[in-house]
Amino acid sequence: MSDLAVVMQAQGLARHYRVGGGGFAKASTVRALDGVSFSLSAGRTLAVVGESGCGKSTLARQLTLIEPPTSGRLLIDGQDAAASHPPPLALRRRVQMVFQNPYASLNPRKSIAQALAEPLVIHTALSTGERQARVAAMLERVGLRPEHAQRYPHMFSGGQRQRVAVARAMMLDPAIVVADEPTSALDLSIQAQILNLFMDLQVATGTAYVFISHNLSVVEHVAHDVAVMYLGRIVEQGPKAQVLGTPQHPYTQALLSAVPTLRAQDERQRIPLVGEPPSPLNPPAGCAFHTRCPRAVARCRSEVPALRTVVGREVACHLAGTP
Ligand code: SF4
Repeated sequence: MSDLAVVMQAQGLARHYRVGGGGFAKASTVRALDGVSFSLSAGRTLAVVGESGCGKSTLARQLTLIEPPTSGRLLIDGQDAAASHPPPLALRRRVQMVFQNPYASLNPRKSIAQALAEPLVIHTALSTGERQARVAAMLERVGLRPEHAQRYPHMFSGGQRQRVAVARAMMLDPAIVVADEPTSALDLSIQAQILNLFMDLQVATGTAYVFISHNLSVVEHVAHDVAVMYLGRIVEQGPKAQVLGTPQHPYTQALLSAVPTLRAQDERQRIPLVGEPPSPLNPPAGCAFHTRCPRAVARCRSEVPALRTVVGREVACHLAGTP
């Protein structure tokens, strides 16, 4: 592990939503996020993977302080950002976000120069000239030309727009950038360019990333650490080499077995992933994965497995580490 400063710590982060309850219907609780903990250091990338509906996007909203958690703590530079909502402006500027669709996240009526200067207007006391200089420097840093500053989002390709979105996220020198599927709307050749841009910027600035993706090839490319989520919980997390190289949780093994180029070294671990994830409105008792797990035993149907250390990573599976 690195000895770099820890910039973000999630401690038992949970987000529950009350749904229904109108008329005679009984209200129920969706545990979209259910006790997520991790630690992220400067200059590191934590990739969060899992199928849609596993809680990745809810996690992104908590980490970017868009909505408060139901319980748990979120420490940014050691301060609990979840203690008040909205959190202090000084903490909010430390975390920025890059969305899947840059076109939706950029105001079509604002030029690129205006879009990039906006965070500086809100969060700093820089003069107009200083802001213009910062915008020009950032455009160059993300591979755009000075004349692009006066153009509007519709005048760019998808890849260029995502460069603008990355530039906007980096304008305030954030400690952490949360990127939610930032390349999944792009062509394959452009995806690699944007991933490389993220990595170059990280080397230059030391920014930590939380990289949310369903694409394990992308994760393999960018991550230092990987957290695998299933129904609102982390089921396996640790260094990329361990989690992707020798996965211990049957769910991680199943996800990997669907990606031929990333199959675990031990071919005996291959497990097909069958069926859909259960509804978070009515999750199975015990281990939430037991309805799809080929290794499930009686204990799995009644007892929730806790995360524990197995061969250099944390795994939530009763049988992990056993033959
Ligand atoms: Fe499968 Fe049981 Fe492990 Fe859950 S606890 S992943 S059901 S073996």
